[in-house]
Amino acid sequence: MKYIFVSGGVISGIGKGIATASMAMLLKSAGFKVVPIKFDPYLNIDAGTMNPIEHGEVFVLDDGAETDQDLGHYERFLNESLNKHSIATQGSIYWTVLQKERNLEYGGTNVDVVTHITEEILRRIDLVAKDKDVDVVFIEIGGTAGEYQNMLFLEANRLLKIRKPDDVIHVHITYLPIPHSIGEMKSKPAQMSVRDLNAVGIQPDIILARAERSLDSSRIKKLAMSTGLEPEDIISAPDVTNIYEVPLNFEEQGLTNRILKKLRLKRKSQALSEWRGFVSKVNKSQKQEKTIKIGIVGKYFATGDFTLADAYISVIEAIKHASFSLGFKPEIAWLDAGKVLAEVDLLKGYQGIIVPGGFGSRDIEGKIATIKYCRENKIPYLGLCYGMQMASIEFARNVLGLTGANTTEVNSTTKCPVIHIMPDQEKKLLKKDYGATMRLGAWDCVLKKDTLTQKLYAKNETSERHRHRYEFNNEYRAQYEAAGFVFSGTSPDGKLVEIIELPGHPFFIGTQFHPELKSRPLSPHPLFVGFIKAAAR
Ligand code: GLN
Repeated sequence: MKYIFVSGGVISGIGKGIATASMAMLLKSAGFKVVPIKFDPYLNIDAGTMNPIEHGEVFVLDDGAETDQDLGHYERFLNESLNKHSIATQGSIYWTVLQKERNLEYGGTNVDVVTHITEEILRRIDLVAKDKDVDVVFIEIGGTAGEYQNMLFLEANRLLKIRKPDDVIHVHITYLPIPHSIGEMKSKPAQMSVRDLNAVGIQPDIILARAERSLDSSRIKKLAMSTGLEPEDIISAPDVTNIYEVPLNFEEQGLTNRILKKLRLKRKSQALSEWRGFVSKVNKSQKQEKTIKIGIVGKYFATGDFTLADAYISVIEAIKHASFSLGFKPEIAWLDAGKVLAEVDLLKGYQGIIVPGGFGSRDIEGKIATIKYCRENKIPYLGLCYGMQMASIEFARNVLGLTGANTTEVNSTTKCPVIHIMPDQEKKLLKKDYGATMRLGAWDCVLKKDTLTQKLYAKNETSERHRHRYEFNNEYRAQYEAAGFVFSGTSPDGKLVEIIELPGHPFFIGTQFHPELKSRPLSPHPLFVGFIKAAAR
């Protein structure tokens, strides 16, 4: 087994996850069985309890693990579903060690950070590798070189390198700024981040140099010389408009062969043609005039003076996959639900609107106003989780005449609780048992014959990923159906509403699950494809 550690330097947010996913995909295309694991430095047991503005999207796996958005990149680039062994937070590692200590599993020894925590880190790497029976495991270390938080992961890397010198390499992703006032690409911060790694006993084998542009030969030489590498080990990773080009950029610069050489592996295949086909389709779509304007109405965009799309990354990617597959260039806009409430005309000109997942009461009236506008003006609408619940509330209030209809998440004493807490969830909330206790992961869903939903899926059953505590209240089902509202997907026992739709509308579908989590570049999600088609019409 071979191990490729990946760390980042200089700044966060330089696309470590995408680079790791790209390298894993390249090794897979060279004929090796690979698996990634992400180590997150924070003490939360999982990403499920974190605010999306701070942390970005919570990506949910089939087995219900609530993970970091990088797992989404891994699945999309590898076109494979991963399991909970591909994620470990520092908190979860301490948790295991401390539980073992309480059970006297360490037989009375001193339990220490170095030895016990580092060994648990190495055990997690083994666990995911054995679980998937792979040739190469990619280990992405969250955070940035030089900070305290990820020291123990780097220490585990150092220890494994001593034990298996021929089987472990380290790829460092660093950043070279081009300050406007200087007008020149500067390599000093990158040199310093490598020095930070050296200080903890790690010498990188390859450097991925993120920058606005590709490095010129003099910068490559300088960085190679100062870090003790050969120029071939410095790979440019310039900004791209299409992230799916990243693996091809790497391949062109010989990264795969370089990795194989360092790990003493021989290439077994050359299987990038499907990916190349997809990327050329994307590039063609991007040059086209056939744009599709999609608005996402949410609340997790603002951080200080800046707008970040991280909270909805899978929704954005799913829109792109579907648009590219149809030859359209998507133009995605973030619309603040609060602003839409004040001025619904902000929605004018969009060909399709999405209300994505969400929690709590802030801005829900803006989401409901958005949905009313889409329903009445026949604008294609896709509601994801909270967006499906809001569509049900809108219909209750404005079509069924149930004034004040609401979800009990927002108003616990509403007279018309058309969305209410799931019975087993109520007990958990009363006990303040919040962590990893939502209805999570993949659940089967039966599709109703001859509905738009069923036609789009082109099958009678599906399985989709969930993350919620509230559900459609079955007491209102008959009343909705009588008014033409269709429940086009339910749990196999018929008890849980999973998908709703409005016939007679160009596209009005809401899902209790998150279809965006299963959309992949090479297999776009059918509901997103249907939504984009309707938007184009
Ligand atoms: N807040 C809603 C619930 O818990 C919807 C969750 C979501 O959109 N992921 O049911």
